[in-house]
Amino acid sequence: MRFAAFSISGERRVGMVSADGANFHPINMSTERAARGVAALIGMSDAEIADVSSPLPAHEVTLEAPFPRPGRNIFCVGKNYLDHAHEFSNSGFDSSAATSTVPKAPIIFSKVPETVIAHGEKIIIDPTVSAAIDYEAELAVIIGTGGRSISKADAMNHVWGYTLVNDVTARDLQGKYSQWLIGKSQDTFCPMGPFAVTRDELDIGDTEIRCVVNGEIRQQANTRDLIFDVPTIIETLSAGITLLPGDIIATGTPAGVGIGFDPPRYLRHGDVVRVEIDVIGSLENQCEERPS
Ligand code: MG
Repeated sequence: MRFAAFSISGERRVGMVSADGANFHPINMSTERAARGVAALIGMSDAEIADVSSPLPAHEVTLEAPFPRPGRNIFCVGKNYLDHAHEFSNSGFDSSAATSTVPKAPIIFSKVPETVIAHGEKIIIDPTVSAAIDYEAELAVIIGTGGRSISKADAMNHVWGYTLVNDVTARDLQGKYSQWLIGKSQDTFCPMGPFAVTRDELDIGDTEIRCVVNGEIRQQANTRDLIFDVPTIIETLSAGITLLPGDIIATGTPAGVGIGFDPPRYLRHGDVVRVEIDVIGSLENQCEERPS
């Protein structure tokens, strides 16, 4: 199943998305519950989720990110596709490159929850802060059942579903500070959505992901090429950190980011970035320079 968070008449609702994406079926739940976005569905029974009102045409509502404000930082994995690990280490902005080009253990960082924006919202470019803003198409895992010390064998039982994120990054800030948080957590730097899907919708070992900038395909890869697969990431994180329902883990980006080009192709005012996985949808955001 595929779900959306959206608002209508100023109130947030959560709904099932029709196969063609044209209609949302609002799921009946309290306003307080719906305020959590798709997180509200975690732990609900199939019967509760099937209790829907009349469909609303998608164009009559305002789409929001599936998790408009995650409960805590979004966990992210760095350099998790081989070709990207090489392009990034060669860029000069990789403060982890001195250790190794290809990581021996997952590189984990996070983005603050306030970075999240919806499909259609603007990625703000602030030239007074960064001159090297880049895109990163990523599959994101949504944790359903929390836990600590989760084994690889059991990891997928803790996954509720998936969404898409664009792990927008200020490369110059990522390079300047050895911890990546500042470069990754600038306002608007986590477009998410457009929808979230349950885990049965997607074959985690064979899913194509793309990033298109101004109509040009920049990234095109398959999740089978992840260096550290989803069970390994969950085992790594949960060894000492209790994962919670609604936690989001961005699994890393493939080759083809702006920094991988010579000269680099950073995002500029007016650029349109689209991140796609067929069963999830297309997450499109335009860049806008912040007026000084
Ligand atoms: Mg990333």
